Amino acid sequence: MQDFSEALRLRGKRIAFVPTMGYLHDGHLRLMEEGKKRGDCLVTSIYVNPTQFGPDEDLDKYPRDFERDERLSRDAGVDVIFYPSSSQMYPEQYHTYVTVEDITTNLCGLTRPTHFRGVATVCAKLFNIIKPHVTVFGRKDFQQLAVIKRMVADLNMDIEVIGIPTVREPDGLAMSSRNAYLKEGEREAALSLSRSLRRAADLYNQGERDAGVILQEVKGFIEGHPGTKIDYVKICDVETMADVESVEGERSVLALAVWVGTPRLIDNYVFGETI
Ligand code: AMP
Repeated sequence: MQDFSEALRLRGKRIAFVPTMGYLHDGHLRLMEEGKKRGDCLVTSIYVNPTQFGPDEDLDKYPRDFERDERLSRDAGVDVIFYPSSSQMYPEQYHTYVTVEDITTNLCGLTRPTHFRGVATVCAKLFNIIKPHVTVFGRKDFQQLAVIKRMVADLNMDIEVIGIPTVREPDGLAMSSRNAYLKEGEREAALSLSRSLRRAADLYNQGERDAGVILQEVKGFIEGHPGTKIDYVKICDVETMADVESVEGERSVLALAVWVGTPRLIDNYVFGETI
């Protein structure tokens, strides 16, 4: 892969890269569409990265279907699928990790303390292997995008990082590979996430700026749906990820993580944007 990328670079070609864990959906395809526009060669990776999963998380159960992913990638105009094994990515003597501090401690970092270390490490490795000029991430994983932007800036990686708005099902549910875990009857509970964000947007549009008031409304709404268990609901600064008390348009994000039956689903809304 490195030789291939180097040859492309020597020919003056621009490499666009979309990292994924596979089990592709329209959100991933939208990222690929953007990558296609921004590069001469579009590379995607399909790799369920073990270092970003905690010991009691769903690594083994994470949905996988390489043949389907290959077909969808081809149709989306992907030129290369990078599909490594874990023994290639983390051989026995592997000892190096990338830690992005501060912005990884709040939100998903609260219940997944090693998650972003795994994400930053695998992305740094993939960037060194694929040597992209531009990489495309989804804003559904809002904190992840902030972490990647921070790492790229802090470590002087010469890569443009693009964030793409969340792609949703017609009923509003943010697309996710983990939606495959939802059982019949859990869909209504899962919809409480996006619907609660809409309620927050309504409050904001009516002039509410007190984060506590908005959080109370959102939590109450989600808790009113049987089968949900809140991990966190928070309003934070879009860059520092620190909690804020007062909401500021385009600077504050409402981020939430909720278990709906088996899956833990996440969603977010940046105040002042359309949802
Ligand atoms: P994953 O395969 O879940 O690790 O996601 C790979 C990339 O797709 C990440 O940059 C995600 O943020 C992005 N992504 C996942 N779901 C969506 C979605 N519904 N809309 C936009 N991007 C998404």
